[in-house]
Amino acid sequence: MDTLPDNVFSLQNQCPSCGSRRVTVDHGPHPVRCVVPGEGHVETELEFPVMDCHDCGESYTDYRAEKIRDTWVEQIFERYFQA
Ligand SMILES: [Zn+2]
Repeated sequence: MDTLPDNVFSLQNQCPSCGSRRVTVDHGPHPVRCVVPGEGHVETELEFPVMDCHDCGESYTDYRAEKIRDTWVEQIFERYFQA
């Protein structure tokens, strides 16, 4: 068996839980939310890939979802906190 690469979380089509390749990708949009101090919850829907494993039921995201969500959170905080 091959050793896992360092960037294991960038694997797109192999389940990190069971190793299955019977994985489908749902590009969304998916609801996301963040908490803005003093404002409460801010919600929106963003398009990013979420992988669903058909063998173990695991749903997972990778660096692409992280990056898209992080960018959105940055924009929210800029909107609320810029003078
Ligand atoms: Zn799985």
